[in-house]
Amino acid sequence: MFVGIVRSVAIGIILLSYTHIFAGNPFDRGDHARRDEDALKKMVRQQNARILPFHNLQPLVRRSPEAELAWIGHEFLYDLPEEAGGPKFLGLDCAQNPHFAVDISKVEDPSGIAALAENGAFEDGRMAATEIPQEQSGILAQARSNLNWHAQHRFCSVCGVESQSYRGGLMRECPSCKSQHFPRTDPVAIMLVYRGEKCVMGQTLARQRSTFYSCLAGFMDQGESIEEGVRREVMEEAGLPIGKVTYHSSQPWPFPSSLMIGCHAEALSDDILVDTGEMADVRWFTKEEVKLALEHKLEGVNIPGPIAIAHHLIKAWATGTANI
Ligand SMILES: [Zn+2]
Repeated sequence: MFVGIVRSVAIGIILLSYTHIFAGNPFDRGDHARRDEDALKKMVRQQNARILPFHNLQPLVRRSPEAELAWIGHEFLYDLPEEAGGPKFLGLDCAQNPHFAVDISKVEDPSGIAALAENGAFEDGRMAATEIPQEQSGILAQARSNLNWHAQHRFCSVCGVESQSYRGGLMRECPSCKSQHFPRTDPVAIMLVYRGEKCVMGQTLARQRSTFYSCLAGFMDQGESIEEGVRREVMEEAGLPIGKVTYHSSQPWPFPSSLMIGCHAEALSDDILVDTGEMADVRWFTKEEVKLALEHKLEGVNIPGPIAIAHHLIKAWATGTANI
């Protein structure tokens, strides 16, 4: 398992950047290839085309000899029900092999398709992501978010007519009013609030009566900068005014299509006022408590594991590696 890697990149000076799980997709997303609809249709039929089926948004994964996405050939596509929606182009690998994802949720019994991959099975994407190679979790994120968007946006939001997929899945166009619709990504500000040697973590109502505490977070509003989103969310959830906001890293989160924008945020006050309509608890933790929690040694408190950007925001602050 390879998570939360810190990659050192020498470009004159040493830069530090995080590649979280669900990032690091190595594909060339093939912008030029997407513009030729006929060429895309031929590409799917090429012998070197590789297809990743998803059933109810679960990718086909094989466990042997090692956990990896289970790409299969294109032949099974021609037996799929029409409403399956067709393959979506993900991109080209370094050998120029075209890769596609396809939603086979309309297939009642997917076991026959799973059997096309030796030792293949449809698995929960979140679980699989921690065990497949890092770069494959990035491919999984791209594919899962795109297939979910098509499943949820079949009809034109202007006139209600069923729209059609173009550009390998990067656009839908309405045949009636010609409106174009594009896949959505929902930005989420996620921040570790700190003041001196203590930080804030909270428990949402959904986790009420659990031991789970994490960073504060919330969807960005329209017409809002990241800094403004951070300050608004912290004020809403914890009643704390925020001064300095420092960007740390970001993480695609394909459940269904978020982009987590990770920051550290300096509180200007100690006085927490919990929004009880959203949060079960919000409180201060000392750096020593946080270090214990990172080692699963803080009684009654569990924090997110390395799959989540929250873990890395917390760890960077507690270990003094955050640039704040
Ligand atoms: Zn329309």
